[in-house]
Amino acid sequence: MSEFREAVIDLGAIAANVAHLRATIGTPHFMAVVKANAYGHGAVPVARTALAAGADWLGVADLTEAHALRDAGIEAPLLAWLHGPDTDFEAAIARDIDLGVSSACQLRTIADAAGRLGRVANVHLKLDTGLSRNGLNGPDWAEVFALGSGFERDGLVHVRGIFSHLSNASPAADDEAVARFSSGLDLAAAAGLTPELAHLASTAAALRLPAARFSMVRIGIGLYGLSPFDDASPRELGLSPAMTLRASVAAVRRVPAGAGVSYDYLWRAPEDGNLALVPLGYADGVPRAASGSARVNINGRGYPIVGRIAMDQFVVSLGQDGVDVGDEVVLFGDPDVRGGEPEPVPSAADWADAAGTINYEIVTRIGHRVPRSYRAVLSESGEPAR
Ligand SMILES: *Cc1c(COP(=O)(O)O)cnc(C)c1O
Repeated sequence: MSEFREAVIDLGAIAANVAHLRATIGTPHFMAVVKANAYGHGAVPVARTALAAGADWLGVADLTEAHALRDAGIEAPLLAWLHGPDTDFEAAIARDIDLGVSSACQLRTIADAAGRLGRVANVHLKLDTGLSRNGLNGPDWAEVFALGSGFERDGLVHVRGIFSHLSNASPAADDEAVARFSSGLDLAAAAGLTPELAHLASTAAALRLPAARFSMVRIGIGLYGLSPFDDASPRELGLSPAMTLRASVAAVRRVPAGAGVSYDYLWRAPEDGNLALVPLGYADGVPRAASGSARVNINGRGYPIVGRIAMDQFVVSLGQDGVDVGDEVVLFGDPDVRGGEPEPVPSAADWADAAGTINYEIVTRIGHRVPRSYRAVLSESGEPAR
């Protein structure tokens, strides 16, 4: 009998993914991106695993996430790049958290905080090279580089890195962003800045656009063994999905032809048949938009979800098959791991297709009510045991 509901995280898979990506990409530095609770996998265990497997930097979006890693005793170089207007930079500088900088105002506030503390703040200037999101606007680059250079002379700030982020809109758009980024690096050098790190690529560009690799890549989705591409599976990229979402069957019933199932009777039984109740719903991150289209595995066989996915539960049509209360239901996992089951388990990408979204959102939204349990199954070759 399996847990009522659980997300099993294979840390061996994460370690193998880091080792494989690090070897394939070959940059001097490798940042493991563990924002959003490591895309739902658990920030602290994933960060420790990634560092042990060869990552030398950690990246998060905001300082709350960064402090949680420091609270757990993780001392590795750590960058946070998204800040609110009232962010307490002093606390971050005191804990050696590097700060992404997206405006002249932020840089001044950080220099002030460093001055009050009597410490040097390590910053990475973020250039907007096309996304129109976070990052310094092109027309402001020269001014902010000069400001940074001045703060360096005053001993308040060290510009340790310059970075940007790609749109993945098209190869042409990414090439243009790489060119803009390179021109930004030249402009920074002209202003007297000598950053040790230039970083632009996340998983997709790190794998397919070598010109975007510079001295460090920031790897998120690849750590978790998922593909950033529509046209390549994790296995084709040499990656193993780390998360398996599963539950146990909470109830089984037989219904007559015509019985309505779940809210709005979106589905009615076409004939007398068996249904299984699964105790996971949209509160747990199971997307309601996948109602009527996603599939799950029970005892190694695939079955369709029928009717609306509710907040806490959904229903699976078994046809004439029988299952028992307590039998294992797998929503998604690694389809390439086969323990003799007749059918592969669905992937996070299958759920994304069913819900009209991307695999990132499927794993990241797995909710707080789902306990994470950790496996660290490594074979002698360093590959996760299958
Ligand atoms: C989330 C994020 C990444 C990681 O992207 P993946 O596609 O998951 O590899 C890298 N850099 C920045 C700035 C991000 O916000």
